[in-house]
Amino acid sequence: MRDILPPESARWRRFNTVFADIVEAAGYGQLIPPLLEDLGVFTRLGDATDVVTKEMYDFVDKGDRRVALRPEMTAGVCRSFAQHRPTTPWKTYYTGSNFRYEKPQRGRYRQFDQVGIEVLGADDPHVDVEVIALAWEFYRRLGLQHVRLIVNSLGEPGDRARYVEALRVHFEAAGDALSAQSRETLTRNPLRVLDSKREGDRAIIADAPRIADFHTDEAAAHFAAVCEGLRSLGIPFEVEPKLVRGLDYYLRTIFEFQGGTLDSAQNALGGGGRYDGLVEALGGPPTPGVGFALGIDRTLLACDDEGVFPPEPRALDAFVVDVTGGCEAILLTAELRAAGLAVDRGFENRSMKAQMKLANRSGADAALIVGDDELTAGTIVVKPLRSGEEQVTIPRSDLIAHLTGTDRDDR
Ligand code: AMP
Repeated sequence: MRDILPPESARWRRFNTVFADIVEAAGYGQLIPPLLEDLGVFTRLGDATDVVTKEMYDFVDKGDRRVALRPEMTAGVCRSFAQHRPTTPWKTYYTGSNFRYEKPQRGRYRQFDQVGIEVLGADDPHVDVEVIALAWEFYRRLGLQHVRLIVNSLGEPGDRARYVEALRVHFEAAGDALSAQSRETLTRNPLRVLDSKREGDRAIIADAPRIADFHTDEAAAHFAAVCEGLRSLGIPFEVEPKLVRGLDYYLRTIFEFQGGTLDSAQNALGGGGRYDGLVEALGGPPTPGVGFALGIDRTLLACDDEGVFPPEPRALDAFVVDVTGGCEAILLTAELRAAGLAVDRGFENRSMKAQMKLANRSGADAALIVGDDELTAGTIVVKPLRSGEEQVTIPRSDLIAHLTGTDRDDR
């Protein structure tokens, strides 16, 4: 777990703002679910997933309840839907931290943040298209050019079950040719064997049955409509028949966004899909759902790699340097801040030299200097710190107009 310090923290906030602007403009409202849920909410995600079996921060609270820090957001959103029964389609978005007891490495942390959306109550393939298109627009707005979108369909629940069985037969037939790790995965979740990146497993995976051969007509038509919608929007994608996702609840459409310039351990920037049975599993009425979650850390790593959406230096309009004891600085900063300017100041009545050093380091556009002469004359020295312009002495009463540029219109 890490501290996110300035200026990176400001970049996180901008990231969340860009995201919220896009999805709010598409009719999504923010849901702020609790960080902690009853453990049962997450065990519904499936006991064949590492997230549930190995990575959960679960414990017994003082009231003897089994609770867990959320490892992801979708289950909490569905629990919330089942509890409040809002009108559908329910379009929500969220941003916040999740917790997984994973082995920390670059782009993989035990506390990590995601932004995401979920749409509950509509199984129209056009909803899948909208969801994917909003993530695509978000990447575009960040400036990312090399994101790859891969899509697949896991079919209806029956298709998925028949496919999993066929995979089991296929991988069992491979015997010891399959790596020990994959043989272990096979006993729990044959789908996840498709994720194996081990050299020896590759050929066996390449020959594995394909999910598309197990699709009912209905599932095939739904997926075709999703692909058609993406094409109509000019969103480039590849159908990847071996794509499966980490959590058990997905069926029909699934998708993943990969960062083109990152290595494969961190290149999954985000993903999502349909989970039409999850609300029901959490005690609600049968309700289709589709959504995505995008990891902030990996998306920002991709931004670093592509040289886009950089951290921005703190933007201060002015830094007050008061060498008359500091009382004037109290008033000046308060007045300027009330006028909407971003202003910081020196404290502890330090020397002119020490305060000017702070002013320079602050990144402010200008130092506002008050010495004994200025205090007596009712003036301020405005010394530009970044533009290279000459300093000027102006009446204190003109200061706000001077700093906001409104005086220039009068000339
Ligand atoms: P998932 O919920 O596993 O599908 O993850 C969705 C996205 O969240 C991934 O593509 C990553 O960007 C991000 N993510 C998942 N786990 C972690 C983690 N431990 N640390 C950082 N980001 C993560």
